[in-house]
This record gives sequence, C-alpha cells and structure tokens, in this order.
Amino acid sequence: MTRRPLTLKTIEIFASVQGEGLRQGEPTIFVRLAGCNLRCGFCDTKRAWGEGRETPVVKIAETVGRLRRDHPAAWVCLTGGEPLAQNVRPLVLRLHDDGFMVQVETNGTFPPAACADWHTVSPKPPDYAVHPGFRRTAREAKLVVCGSLDLDAIRTARAFFPRPVPIFLQPRSNARGSLAKAVRLLEAAARAGLENVRLSVQLHKVYGLR
Ligand code: SF4
Repeated sequence: MTRRPLTLKTIEIFASVQGEGLRQGEPTIFVRLAGCNLRCGFCDTKRAWGEGRETPVVKIAETVGRLRRDHPAAWVCLTGGEPLAQNVRPLVLRLHDDGFMVQVETNGTFPPAACADWHTVSPKPPDYAVHPGFRRTAREAKLVVCGSLDLDAIRTARAFFPRPVPIFLQPRSNARGSLAKAVRLLEAAARAGLENVRLSVQLHKVYGLR
C-alpha cells in the first residue's frame, strides 16, 4: 500500500521582507497556511480562513527553494491563518534540512511547535488567552491595536510573557487612528510600570511590499 504524502493546506508562498517585530527588515520567504480557529473582526488575512490547497510538504519546500534562488533569505516564516492549527513539524524539519531557520507567527491558542526556531505570538481579544507552552518558547509578542486593546490587555500579556520578551503594539495596517492609539497605550504602559512594551509598524506596507 502506498502511503499518502504529507500535506498542508496552503494559501500562498512568496518572498518578501519581514515587516514586523524583532526580525523587521530581514528578507524572508512566507508560507501562508490555510484556516484559523478565530474570527477577529480586524483580520487582514481573511482570505486565509478558507480551505486552501492540499500541498505536499515536499512541494512546499521545492517552491521555497526556487524562490530562494532569486530572493536569498535565511528565514522562512509560517503564517496564516493560524499555522499551528496544522501539524507543521514535517515542514519545519524539511526546511531545516534545506538550511533555513523557521519562524512561526501564531495567535498562541495551540501548543508551540517544539522544532521551530522562533515563535511570534499575537494573543487575540476578547480574552487574549495563550497556551502556557509559549511562556518558554515565545521570542516576541504582538498586540494588534484594535478597538478593544486596552491597558488591562497589555498588563495581562506582560504578566504572562517573561520580561525579556518584548510586547509590540502593532497598529492596524498603519492606520492613523491606530498609530495614535498605540502611542497613548505606550505612554499608559510606561506610567503603569510595564517594562519592555514597544511601538511597532508594518514596515512592508510602508515599502509597498507584500
Ligand atoms: S487569529 Fe490572526 S488569522 Fe486568525 S482571524 Fe485573528 S487576525 Fe485573522
């Protein structure tokens, strides 16, 4: 009996620059996986909520390898949707074999991928709940500056993640109102004694990249 090839549901694979967080500005190849367990009103990747295409892990790795020829990059970022809703381990291991480091951008509701090199955790409203495994594995946290983000949510995130993990306030699509609210929240966080809370911006949108 032939074994079914390992597959993941994908939306798109493309080369760009990581626009957010500590890795901001680094050339990166993105694998956008399909499906999400949440339905955030402010989601800017609603197209990833669908079923996507069943794609063999080998094919994903081949596409990433082809993109690297024209767009040299040391990192692959698994994003979504919610990438950890699927078993990404075989893909991460294959990308490691191909010499890449792997970042995972997650809403934090599923357990971390132990084999990944970097987790970017973006807790979401209304409860900003995060799987306890991310206390140890998160490299950075991102809070989208949406209507419901307030000082209490920042306080909750700061209490959850260890002090060296920065908490980025991420304005929605660099919109003016969201930028202004981010500054107000940063000042409020500083006044409240919350450490390592920082402003962010979506650099790829400033540069007009994907
Ligand atoms: S968790 Fe992320 S991908 Fe899922 S709905 Fe919210 S913003 Fe969109």
